[in-house]
Amino acid sequence: MPRSPQLIIPRHCIGCGLWLTSQEKWRLGCAICEAQWPDLRGEKGEMFMQERCMLTRMWTGFRLRENATLENQIHEFKYRGRRQLGLQWGRWVASVGDAPRSKLKSNRVVLVPVPLHWRRKWKRGFNQAEWIAKGVSREWGVDVYPKALIRYSHARSLTGLSMKKRQDVTASAYKMGRRRPPESSTIVLVDDVMTTGATIRSCAAVLELANHQVLGALTLALA
Ligand SMILES: [Zn+2]
Repeated sequence: MPRSPQLIIPRHCIGCGLWLTSQEKWRLGCAICEAQWPDLRGEKGEMFMQERCMLTRMWTGFRLRENATLENQIHEFKYRGRRQLGLQWGRWVASVGDAPRSKLKSNRVVLVPVPLHWRRKWKRGFNQAEWIAKGVSREWGVDVYPKALIRYSHARSLTGLSMKKRQDVTASAYKMGRRRPPESSTIVLVDDVMTTGATIRSCAAVLELANHQVLGALTLALA
């Protein structure tokens, strides 16, 4: 895992612009701004996610479209190539809750980011889910397997499709990749935004079919 140079990590609160102290350097907001975010880390977010996709453990950060600053962050990260933001947000989501490192390690937890089709990854230059997973891995001290899954059909953009149609399109889009996690591991899937939960369900089904154990999923936000 490459260490990121500290210099390119923004050192100001994304809300008010306040200078963050060195202890907070990987964080995104000052305590006052963070207190105003629609924070879904913990049991509440887990409950919301399990309504869409029933896995044992679920983690999410916030609900999209409730806070312009946060929505803008996702845009900066995904479409303007600010990978470091993904790392920081990954750490932010993973830094709360009852998932101590030792417990995750003894359960042999590994992270599998939801893959992009190679063409989209090539166009964008990176897979946003992979960068969130890198952030989570630093916080939890677990490994990331970015090539465990492959997205093989270049499905058209899902925006504008009905919920049913989205589920049909995503149902057949993934298969096992060549770099699989050890069979004894328990997998936590990682994605940027959960909408219907169909993507996570579909990836979990592919992994389980290949005899992998899926513990849960973590997303940065809920749509
Ligand atoms: Zn602030």
